[in-house]
Amino acid sequence: MEEKLQELKQHLTEVNDLDAAAGLLYWDQSTYMPPGGAPARARQLSTLRRLSHDKFTDPAIGKLLDELQPYADSLPVDHDDAALLRVARRFYERETKVPSSFAAEMSAHAVEAYQVWTAARPDNDFARVQPYLEKTLELSRQLANYFPGYDHIADPLINYSDYGMQAATLRQIFADLRAALVPMVQAITAQEPADDSCLRHYYPETDQLAFGLDVIKDFGYDFERGRQDKTHHPFATKFSIGDVRITTRAKDHYLAECLFSTLHESGHAMYEQGLNREYEGLPLGRGTSSGVHESQSRLWENVVGRSRGFWEHYYPALQQTFPEQLRGVSLDEFYRAINKVERSLIRTDADEVTYNLHVMLRFDFELALLEGEMVIADLPDAWNARFEEDFGITPPDQRDGVLQDVHWFAGRIGGAFQGYTLGNILSAQFYAAALDAHPDIPTQIGQGEFGTLHTWLRENIYQHGRKYDPADLVARVTGQPLTIAPYINYLRTKYGELYTL
Ligand code: ZN
Repeated sequence: MEEKLQELKQHLTEVNDLDAAAGLLYWDQSTYMPPGGAPARARQLSTLRRLSHDKFTDPAIGKLLDELQPYADSLPVDHDDAALLRVARRFYERETKVPSSFAAEMSAHAVEAYQVWTAARPDNDFARVQPYLEKTLELSRQLANYFPGYDHIADPLINYSDYGMQAATLRQIFADLRAALVPMVQAITAQEPADDSCLRHYYPETDQLAFGLDVIKDFGYDFERGRQDKTHHPFATKFSIGDVRITTRAKDHYLAECLFSTLHESGHAMYEQGLNREYEGLPLGRGTSSGVHESQSRLWENVVGRSRGFWEHYYPALQQTFPEQLRGVSLDEFYRAINKVERSLIRTDADEVTYNLHVMLRFDFELALLEGEMVIADLPDAWNARFEEDFGITPPDQRDGVLQDVHWFAGRIGGAFQGYTLGNILSAQFYAAALDAHPDIPTQIGQGEFGTLHTWLRENIYQHGRKYDPADLVARVTGQPLTIAPYINYLRTKYGELYTL
């Protein structure tokens, strides 16, 4: 058994190495590659991904998994080897159920749809992307149908990123959350809006970058095992537990962009840096779901980074970095500015209170499209109607309306958005559990100390990687299933102090 297990690990590690090489090529493409590299880079990436897929779906892996099953069955369920064999089998079955010819058709279509979208979005031209989206929807349905036995056709697609979550459960969670959020948004937006003009002076990029780096060093992001570079759309990426990188972008005239995207990506990266080293190169060696991953980025970005205590410590240093720009701006004014709530068009720019309404709109449309309750041609009108209903504003164009997100143009409709809201919900639920264990965490944050929080997260969440499925992890760490109560409580407390609720 030991020999077979080693053979399996060797094989899985080689798959991981091909993926890491592809990841590095992608990182380079998004940071330093000259434009002339684009055509060859696309080919190189697709070659590596094909090699990785072929290697992973090699029947030899299936045979090893079968031979090792009795061993897996003999182990306690939370034994590392049992978890490894369980996760490897799940991925193996997922990959082998989808014929490679179909996977190839899907990724070729994704490349085409993305290219058409990048040209159609600035032109406000939904009609141009419509046939591509229709095909994307058709392919997404087909993909789901390689996994028969589902309750809802979106379930297999949701499983790719938030394993174990189901459309019916999400619908209920989102309905409850929506019922709490809509009146909160109405109450806040009926009041005098916060003045965030202090964030919109000229802020030199190098100083913005340096300030963000200082903060995440204090968080505990390890620069011996990471680095930050500039890109268009910030992301975190891991090549090994010893090399987890983040990217950011800065706007000369908007202080919040670079800072909070840096804090956000550092949360993703600290999760990956905190993994058990024994999982290096194996399927267990990664965050367990997109919802849990997003909970870590949101926790550091919002729950910590937009808290009053945090700024009691950091605001004097920020004022010192930007004395002209922040002269005469009090801590309270600054705190209100970075927590401004408004009805806005763009999901990625939305504040904590309205953000989830953007997600729910997309999630509901994904379900309706997959169910056949809605057709692609309905999207622009449906988008505007729902937007009017939820936000009281109608998008002036398609660019900042139905065409704003890349997700549906990256190959799949379904399973793409729920992770963001699950992440917000879980950020508060995990943080509440951390406070139960260490009630002094807020005081420490007010002193710029994050060791207790970071250690708690590493021990309870980071190190486990995929050893626990998302629902098991949440129950294990917080003592209950995913629940919106801590998140609602967090929003009500924080925004109840900023506004009259
Ligand atoms: Zn994120």
